[in-house]
Amino acid sequence: MGITLVQGDITAQHVDAVVNAANSTLYGGGGVDGAIHRRGGPAILAECQQLRRTRYPRGLPTGEAVATTAGDLPARWVIHTVGPVYSGDDSRRDLLASCYRTSLAVAQELGAGSMAFPAISTGIFGWPMEDGARVALEALGGAPDDLEIRFVLFDAGAYAIFERVLSGRGA
Ligand code: ADP
Repeated sequence: MGITLVQGDITAQHVDAVVNAANSTLYGGGGVDGAIHRRGGPAILAECQQLRRTRYPRGLPTGEAVATTAGDLPARWVIHTVGPVYSGDDSRRDLLASCYRTSLAVAQELGAGSMAFPAISTGIFGWPMEDGARVALEALGGAPDDLEIRFVLFDAGAYAIFERVLSGRGA
């Protein structure tokens, strides 16, 4: 199965787990986060609030991931992960890679057979798309073959960049 690319809206994906480019508050925001909470309904926010009261009183740290219900989305779980804000500092690439790897680990713990990722940190958090694609595809390089991993790119430009990096031409 491996990694596939689609252009579209991550909230419309019929997969077991949808990854959310969240922020550390877990209370929603713009971009993917806003779309997931809007389409997924209040059950997701209720579980996020519960996580803040219990496991993450100071918020979900950058590079980590945690699952909730997917509410009304056509998925079973949302895996929330907090990407780093882009600063040009190379050490932040490890945090971005960690988002992908920890989200994958959470999906495997849940027994997901398919998952959808957005291009984490490449929106409001400012990460350049091509470098974001490289980090993403490298980080998921060791994913098991029996897990379907779908990257959902919002526009044609992002799709083309991911396609180039995946095919090795931009790596
Ligand atoms: P971050 O804060 O991690 O940068 P954003 O949600 O702002 O996260 O953006 C991450 C990427 O997801 C951007 O490339 C953005 O264009 C894209 N994006 C925004 N909304 C959606 C959506 N509904 N489905 C898929 N991708 C989206």
